[in-house]
Amino acid sequence: MKKFLIFLLLLSGINFAANAADTADYKQYTIIKTTNNYVPLRDAASDNAKRFSHLEKGVKIFADDTKNNFFRVDLGLDKYYWINKKYVDVATKVQKKELATIDEIQIYENPKYYIAKIKLSDIPPYNEIETSKNSVDFIIYDSILDKDKLIQTIQTNADFKISKDEFDNLKISYYSNKPLSGHNVQIEGNNLLLKVKKPFLYGENKPFENLTVIVDPGHGGSESGAVAFNLKEKDINLQISKKLKNSLRKNGAKVYLTRETDEYKDLYKRVDFAKSKNADIFISIHQNSLPNRKKVNEKHGTGVYYYNKEAYELSKEIKDSLVKKTGFRDDGVNLASFAVIRATDPVSVLVECGYIIHPKEAKKISDANFQKKIAKAITIGIKNYLKNNF
Ligand SMILES: [Zn+2]
Repeated sequence: MKKFLIFLLLLSGINFAANAADTADYKQYTIIKTTNNYVPLRDAASDNAKRFSHLEKGVKIFADDTKNNFFRVDLGLDKYYWINKKYVDVATKVQKKELATIDEIQIYENPKYYIAKIKLSDIPPYNEIETSKNSVDFIIYDSILDKDKLIQTIQTNADFKISKDEFDNLKISYYSNKPLSGHNVQIEGNNLLLKVKKPFLYGENKPFENLTVIVDPGHGGSESGAVAFNLKEKDINLQISKKLKNSLRKNGAKVYLTRETDEYKDLYKRVDFAKSKNADIFISIHQNSLPNRKKVNEKHGTGVYYYNKEAYELSKEIKDSLVKKTGFRDDGVNLASFAVIRATDPVSVLVECGYIIHPKEAKKISDANFQKKIAKAITIGIKNYLKNNF
């Protein structure tokens, strides 16, 4: 029996504005608005600082200071966050934060997603925090909720919980007994759509039916990737990706490559492409190298990388299957902040099939029959992921 809990304390008429207004009296805020998608809000005023949140285009933010090329953002939390000036338009200055009002919360589903639709007077900053591989919290900052005016409708049995975080921000939590199959926030007019993909389905006969997979051959064109033994990584990546596409299609998946030829493609264009295809799973194909190539006798083999907790199980199954089929050394399941795997929808992983700088592995990963073996191993890995989790 699935349930949803509405925390009554949320509706007990607490005015979130009071505290913010007290401290805001002596401050001056610059209103800025995001002009891009995937805009990172960071822990410090540097492009290398840790990412706190990602914002879509059209988010209204109150900045209270600047440093280097960054605006400082006060979200009323226990620390400040920073946004690069190149991602925002500057509107005007104000003495007080004008907090967005939350007018309506509607929770419903469509064939592919569970959706919490939040109607607001403006779109304030927000966050998606994976609290485990099975659960996500959506937090909405700089907003006020008036219990007398709030309209709430719940039209799904999905496990959503509405509450507040420790700083009194609206928190909408989703829990599943399976790993998350993707989630994202979308801005639609004055609405924030907090979307969670319904769990993938697994059917023994056609395991990949209803599944859209993006295969991303790493590098391309002017960007060769790693080069060794007269081999270019970009070529091997494309060769393996094409074989993977065939293998996945045979199992019923809808498959698209981010590039079909030897062309340069921006990393974010690859992510956008996946989004435009409504992809479920994203697999980036690479061959590894090392800054110090002499160490390749110690570190080589097949490894898979993920960024979001939800992608761990898929990484593990693909890595296990590859190690088994190729006989390569186990180079692990690894956490890494690569642009192509940061999206939370689709479930995204990056596969380093082998080390192009390792003599034996280079020979194998460039061999057409061995490449088929790799493609098959990845296909089995995805199948096992579906079978063991859904
Ligand atoms: Zn690469």
